[in-house]
Amino acid sequence: MKIKAEKHILEFGSRQIPYRLHRVERKRLRVVVSPELTVDVFAPKSINANQIHLALQKRAPWIARTLDKLESYHPLPAPKRYISGETLVYLGRQYRLKVVKSPKQPAKLLGRFLWVWVENKNDIQGVKKAADQWYRKRARDILARYLEKSYIVASRHGVPEPLLVIRKMRKRWGSCSSNGRITLNINLVQVPVHCIEYVIMHELCHLKHNNHSKAFYSLLSRFQPDWRKRKEALDRFRLS
Ligand SMILES: [Zn+2]
Repeated sequence: MKIKAEKHILEFGSRQIPYRLHRVERKRLRVVVSPELTVDVFAPKSINANQIHLALQKRAPWIARTLDKLESYHPLPAPKRYISGETLVYLGRQYRLKVVKSPKQPAKLLGRFLWVWVENKNDIQGVKKAADQWYRKRARDILARYLEKSYIVASRHGVPEPLLVIRKMRKRWGSCSSNGRITLNINLVQVPVHCIEYVIMHELCHLKHNNHSKAFYSLLSRFQPDWRKRKEALDRFRLS
């Protein structure tokens, strides 16, 4: 039997939560929230749209809470073998690593390649070091620049100036602490700039509202009216 899923939106406070509705042969309504941040509702064929709506309203706080908990991002893989031809992703675009035998000099992005110059092409550690240095420097420059740019907007609404920390994080793109520190995942330089700006604005808003309340989302929407589109793009990127 083929199950048809319909797309719907669950309104919860200021939040709009998209979900797929599946009409199935079962007795009770079931809601499944996946780590990919999708919501699937399996509803018995015997109940009508209004009953589904009421049942989902009741479960909306749980659905929202579960989505927030799962809002932990899994960064994309960086080059691992450090050999010519290997793909790396930078600002949402794919590049290839080009290892060239020559006197050592700092790695550089030229055309669609990240050029790395080493005296011995088999010196994987040397290639890794040069590529990592380039990557870290680009991450520091780009993340600091976009934090500064976003802060110009946020500061007008009383968001305190944050301290920026950049490091590798296993499960999140960004986080913020109550002492005014924003931590950004170094691998954020892999995603497009408009997604980087979304993560930064999201964290800046947490400096004023340390939760995912209505007030938090209304501040975020004021600073970045199209944040949902950016988040969607970021989620797609993560899954690709
Ligand atoms: Zn958050």
